[in-house]
Amino acid sequence: MLKITNLHANIEDKEILKGINLEINPGEVHAIMGPNGSGKSTLSSVIAGKEEYEMTEGEIIFEGGDLTELDPEERSHKGIFLSFQYPVEIPGVSVTNFMKASLNAHRKANGQEDMPANEMLKMIREKSELLEMDRKFLSRSLNQGFSGGEKKRNEIFQMAMLNPKLAILDETDSGLDIDALKIVANGVNKLKSKDNAVLVITHYQRLLDYIVPDFVHVMLDGKIVKSGTKELAYELEERGYDWIKQEQL
Ligand code: ADP
Ligand code: MG
Ligand code: MG
Repeated sequence: MLKITNLHANIEDKEILKGINLEINPGEVHAIMGPNGSGKSTLSSVIAGKEEYEMTEGEIIFEGGDLTELDPEERSHKGIFLSFQYPVEIPGVSVTNFMKASLNAHRKANGQEDMPANEMLKMIREKSELLEMDRKFLSRSLNQGFSGGEKKRNEIFQMAMLNPKLAILDETDSGLDIDALKIVANGVNKLKSKDNAVLVITHYQRLLDYIVPDFVHVMLDGKIVKSGTKELAYELEERGYDWIKQEQL
């Protein structure tokens, strides 16, 4: 599904990603862990195509096609979803109306008609129940006055509605109390299928108790320096990152 080869990327002429290789197949859950500043968010932003980042080397292939020339919206229409670390507030636009507009924009980009209103409402009801969202929440202005937990839950709701092929969740756990974390993780788990993949970025092992990864990768200074299974996440929790840095010397 996703194949990243020798990816180098800069921000403001400073090299942040220094040769990333990563392959994700349908049905897999991958986690990227690493200390603050190691380039995790840069990687997710580069996959999503954010314009401030400059790819200088390597390639990103998604479902057989090169992503390099596509803007973030086109990538999203192809089925790549990036959770928003800093979500925008849109006064006067409700969660429901925003969701209807984005879902229909996705359908249009893929040559489909608007979803019939009754079908849309049914889907909104199903997905919001799945995530144990309060009905009143759906009529509130997007992100306005939302708590950290509400913002995260809304992100997962958007993900549930759009049903992306590849969902990238960057620090979805920060700012969540344990109950909200469980609901979010539960939502992600219910959406998992053999056809889609999830990339979870976190610096805490905690989230991975609930979203169990098939593969764990450690990122240090712009490179994936170690990969393993979920046991690696426990080892990192216990021992930190210094031993991996030592291995690199
Ligand atoms: P992580 O998500 O692992 O904490 P980031 O990808 O956010 O790491 O950051 C990697 C490096 O890139 C850091 O040194 C950070 O200071 C730098 N960086 C990230 N975004 C910007 C930016 N917009 N402008 C300048 N430097 C940035
Ligand atoms: Mg950071
Ligand atoms: Mg980050």
